[in-house]
Amino acid sequence: MFQLKFTADFKDTYLDIPYWQVIEDIPKIIQDWIKEDTHEIIIHNQKTLKYYCPNCLNELEEDKSCSVCHLNYASNTDCLEIYANELKDIVLNKAYYVFDIVNNHPYLYEIKEKITYNNNLTLMPFKMAKLTITKAFLVEKNGLRDLINQEFISFNFLASYHKTFNEESDPFLNNNSKKDYELYEQIVLDGNYAYVYPSNLLNLKNTIYKYSKIWNLSTIQKHNYYTIANLTFYPLYYPQFEYLVNYKLDNLALTDPSYFNHGTNFKEIFGLEKSFLPFMVKCNIDFCEYRILKLSKIKDYETLKFFAQVDYFYSKLEKLVIDYKVNLQVLKDYLFLLANPTEYLAEYLDYIDMALKLKLDLKNKRILYPKDLDLAHGNLYNQIEIIENPDINEKIALLSEVLKLNTYEDENYIIFPASSLDDLILESKQQHNCVRMYAQRIINHECQIYFMRKKNNPLKSLVTIEVANNKIIQARVKYNKLPDDEIRKILTKWEKQLVPLIIQN
Ligand SMILES: [Zn+2]
Repeated sequence: MFQLKFTADFKDTYLDIPYWQVIEDIPKIIQDWIKEDTHEIIIHNQKTLKYYCPNCLNELEEDKSCSVCHLNYASNTDCLEIYANELKDIVLNKAYYVFDIVNNHPYLYEIKEKITYNNNLTLMPFKMAKLTITKAFLVEKNGLRDLINQEFISFNFLASYHKTFNEESDPFLNNNSKKDYELYEQIVLDGNYAYVYPSNLLNLKNTIYKYSKIWNLSTIQKHNYYTIANLTFYPLYYPQFEYLVNYKLDNLALTDPSYFNHGTNFKEIFGLEKSFLPFMVKCNIDFCEYRILKLSKIKDYETLKFFAQVDYFYSKLEKLVIDYKVNLQVLKDYLFLLANPTEYLAEYLDYIDMALKLKLDLKNKRILYPKDLDLAHGNLYNQIEIIENPDINEKIALLSEVLKLNTYEDENYIIFPASSLDDLILESKQQHNCVRMYAQRIINHECQIYFMRKKNNPLKSLVTIEVANNKIIQARVKYNKLPDDEIRKILTKWEKQLVPLIIQN
């Protein structure tokens, strides 16, 4: 064990725990690994969208090969992201977690590498790396001993915080102090992800990590990011960690093992039959995907992935599945027929909310999966608008009588004001725009909506025009595109003739 020593003033004692304090303490093999690690990670400039060779800083060819080094980086998916006009005076900070095992005591270090790239044309390109030890912990059974700050962070504290954090949206509700939050953030939350030095992990077998099987994580030998909690708190505090690693459910072990602590067999713990396990392993399912799988029981990874990426809609999806027996795969297929499924999911859920408000029968497939989602959404929107504002149609009609002063007509075209909600819905539908949502703004005199059409085809939409303060704010043809020159000339002329209307509410 460690020696108890007196402080300089002999008033107190402390544990004398030796640890790496300066770079020279870090074994050379580890220093070299860190320095070489970035040789494999290509540099990506988000501003110019160019890729660079990590060794010579030459711009990579289309196939991600370097014409100077004759190396091909196509298989390296990891990038150092920068945002700069050119690759010059670039400074990057990378973080690494390194275990050290001394007399079966595991230590965990955070080592930061500051890399300076220079590509000044007058100089040869070079890369310079400087290492600093930023965190040093002695990992104990019940917590982390922070050796730099002489503090003990107990796993019980992290677990209770974890629990509040998962249950409440505001972590400060439960009288947690800012300092507690920051500590929790540093250990558990994202943003402190770092690479792990992989070569000595097996030595953890003879330490308190014995039962964690952390060295069996399939991704830990490769470039993958981990948090301090992934490497200490989760494997040592939650017995489920080993259970999940044994099942090869790595992503579940790393995201939130605390969730899987009820029950004694697979079905009780996961809420799923064990026949789902091969599928879960094959996809290395993460927590959000698992929730969708548990809800839908659908063994289709595309479906899980799609709904998992919009995790914030989970409770709405849950209601659809449980109360209305919606099959998420059918819903996904339905949405994938539309241009942008993710965007349409939001519109769809909004549509469902309105359908529920209007007490429509969601068991009816035609209501559940409307043929034209935009139109159906617009219709319900307007129905609710009318319910909440019964005289809205009348107001639009009355107003349009006044706005008719601005009616225009020449040999080929007519321009006239929208005179009802239905006018707006039809225009929206034909033009694929959202003018149907403007009803409220029209009656509030925030804007006026006019339609420009061909004289010989007055029912067919051509240009939707928004006017405010006697100026054309928008004039759009189908799909929100701009009208051609001929039409624009007419509109400019028309705009000058607009009658300044002062309407009292
Ligand atoms: Zn190169």
